[in-house]
Amino acid sequence: MTIRLVLATANPDKAKEMVEILSAAGRVELVDRPTHVGEVEETGDTLLENARLKAMALCEAAGAAAVADDTGLVVDALGGAPGVWSARYAGEDATYDDNVTKLLAELGDSTERRARFETVAYVAFPDGTELFAVGEVEGVIAESPSGDGGFGYDPVFIPSEGDGRTFAQMSPEEKHVVSHRGRAFRALAERMVEMGVLRT
Ligand code: IMP
Repeated sequence: MTIRLVLATANPDKAKEMVEILSAAGRVELVDRPTHVGEVEETGDTLLENARLKAMALCEAAGAAAVADDTGLVVDALGGAPGVWSARYAGEDATYDDNVTKLLAELGDSTERRARFETVAYVAFPDGTELFAVGEVEGVIAESPSGDGGFGYDPVFIPSEGDGRTFAQMSPEEKHVVSHRGRAFRALAERMVEMGVLRT
């Protein structure tokens, strides 16, 4: 038995990683969100609320189980910013580069560069069942960008469990082993296995 989940994300970079991680975790078929569904407004104050909003909206619109991801980069020296605002840190239409540039400018030459990525992975089923799991990875913000893999803040995030390379310098597989998203979606898959809706 293969479980079918609608991807509740409009971000192709996040969708690609969700497919890679969940496909390795069990018999799951991930389908793109229906094109007629508009972008879900992230009006929540927390990653959990926003992940739930997205999963519930897509589950309702598609009439099928839907899976969502909400992720934030939490930087200690910036009081937890950009956090829930990670996508819009440099403004409503900010590009990844704009956000990285703003982050490096805000940190300046500070030596306190500890940060972590946090992901909430959320699945909503048409029968009302909801499940979620969280994943985190600790690291530091580099002084300048390196690498051209990954996306978002990856060129400036050096995970503590690595060898000094940024996420953007790693292969997708290397990133997923330690990443926030890898951990959150593997934990979510385990819960679905325990529930009997996913088989490995
Ligand atoms: P959201 O989860 O769609 O609200 O997006 C959060 C933002 O965080 C994205 O637009 C990216 O800029 C960033 N982001 C999310 N996941 C990652 C990741 O795995 N690496 C680097 N940046 C990420």
